[in-house]
Amino acid sequence: MTTPERISILYVDDEPENLSAFKATYRRTHDITLSHSAKDALEILKEDEPHIILADNRMPEVTGVEFFRQVKTLHPDSVRILITAYTSSEMMIEAINEGHIDKYLVKPWSDDMMNATIQSGFEIYKSRKELKEKNQELALINERLTKTNNELNTFIYSVSHDLRTPLMSILGLLSLMEEEKEPTEQQNYIDLMQSSIHKMDAYIQNTLNYYRNKKSDIEISKINVQEFVEDTLDSMKSFREEVSFKVSINGEPEIYSDEIRLRICLNNLISNAIKYGKKDDEKYLIEVEGVCTPDFLELHVIDHGIGIPEDEMNQIFEMFSKGKQSKSSKSTGLGLYIVKESLQKINGTVDVESEVNEGSRFIIKVPNLNE
Ligand code: ADP
Repeated sequence: MTTPERISILYVDDEPENLSAFKATYRRTHDITLSHSAKDALEILKEDEPHIILADNRMPEVTGVEFFRQVKTLHPDSVRILITAYTSSEMMIEAINEGHIDKYLVKPWSDDMMNATIQSGFEIYKSRKELKEKNQELALINERLTKTNNELNTFIYSVSHDLRTPLMSILGLLSLMEEEKEPTEQQNYIDLMQSSIHKMDAYIQNTLNYYRNKKSDIEISKINVQEFVEDTLDSMKSFREEVSFKVSINGEPEIYSDEIRLRICLNNLISNAIKYGKKDDEKYLIEVEGVCTPDFLELHVIDHGIGIPEDEMNQIFEMFSKGKQSKSSKSTGLGLYIVKESLQKINGTVDVESEVNEGSRFIIKVPNLNE
């Protein structure tokens, strides 16, 4: 059984007998702080936020209502209870309508009355706090929704714009080809068109991956790490003939994770490793090193390519961020963004170490999601 929360009460009254009588009755059950003046009470309130503040209305310096006017700005959640022998109805109407007081107790009060007022006051305090928390949660959800919405708008705008570029270039090349009689020139145009088509395909692939990651639920399955890496590499071998792969996986053979998302990530990292190899390398080695433990899988994709300049390292995971050395014909600026977003969905991370002209090491780490 959980012990009920003790209710903290600040009681302000200029008559010492009232204060001590109150403390004697309630100190065992509640946390009581006393103050004989509104001024001292305001000092106490600079440090503390009691659940309930009780104040006598007739005090020498300020009235209880006036005191509560100041308290309301300081601690809007504390419940303000006015104790009064006599009040004018105008004053009560104003105090209640302006929200300076939440409840009032008429003198002389009985223990039953005081107890019931404290309990219901505490309920008000709790619902105010709950409402505040709910509002904060809602604000967070709203912020996330706005971010997703803005991101989606940028995404749609940029993808449609960037898809048109290769399309327009294909149209241009086609009309040039119509007039060209020379076969070698014609072949040139065909090669250029092919490159534009590859670029369009890259955009479409990335759009699909972006969409899949945003929309589909996580699907956990048992993955054999060695097979998974080799399968992914097999599907990419044809991209560049001079590329060879070296795989070394240590530790546990299997991990539970979302295979599709993991594949999207590894695919992107390998295709970047191939894309950003040095142009004239006759042989080009890409290594995949893995460590699998009962808790996580860490995969390193290591290339010996052109590397990433230091001033670009912070941006490469942003949407549509392309490095200065990126090949415009093959670059969409989406691959690493999708890697980061996909990993976020499965509680994973991605890191990079790189040196210009030496190469890059991308490290992805995902937890074992076997519940
Ligand atoms: P894209 O490759 O389509 O431009 P990415 O999001 O995959 O988009 O990569 C963003 C940028 O990061 C690239 O433009 C490139 O400058 C840099 N980059 C990514 N991977 C590598 C790598 N393995 N070697 C060197 N640069 C890389």
